[in-house]
Amino acid sequence: MHLKRLEIQGFKSFADRIQLDFNSGITAVVGPNGSGKSNISDAIRWVLGEQSAKTLRGGKMEDVIFAGTEHRKPLGFAEVSLTFDNSDGILPIDFSEVTVTRRVYRSGESEYMINKTQCRLKDIYELFLDTGIGKDGYSIIGQGRVDEILSSKSEERRGIFEEASGIMKYKVRKQEAERK
Ligand code: ATP
Ligand code: MG
Repeated sequence: MHLKRLEIQGFKSFADRIQLDFNSGITAVVGPNGSGKSNISDAIRWVLGEQSAKTLRGGKMEDVIFAGTEHRKPLGFAEVSLTFDNSDGILPIDFSEVTVTRRVYRSGESEYMINKTQCRLKDIYELFLDTGIGKDGYSIIGQGRVDEILSSKSEERRGIFEEASGIMKYKVRKQEAERK
């Protein structure tokens, strides 16, 4: 499975729709300070369901919507889509290409979609559980996360290994069953 495409519209500094196509191998994003490199990784976290405005380097969720510039009016919504090549079937869904989409309006509510069909945040979360990709997966390692891994409590560290070893879904199901 690999990342094929990222589409961003109205998210942070990206007012116009942009599309990044990723080839296999390594992709590096380079550019001057303030040009939007971190906004790209924020967009990836966000579409995977990130709920913390702070993790996205903002004060409130609305801050992810393009806020306007001297020459341009603010926008009313932000939308990000991330497409995976799933021809190896690692994502538990019967499609060889999987696109997850999130949209948010200034009113605050987020909409989520899997292959253009509306779904719940829970569905997005479950789709990526144990793949390492979800918003808390180890595939996104922020600057703070490195310290976290090195200095966190053994229990938190264990969580990272549990996700990597693929047993997280059983834990979540057990917790859900116990709650019923
Ligand atoms: P550095 O090299 O310093 O890490 P960077 O390329 O990672 O820079 P980002 O942090 O991704 O840069 O982008 C910062 C820019 O995004 C700032 O100019 C900021 O004003 C802009 N920005 C952030 N949120 C919004 C928003 N909601 N609307 C418009 N612009 C925004
Ligand atoms: Mg940056």
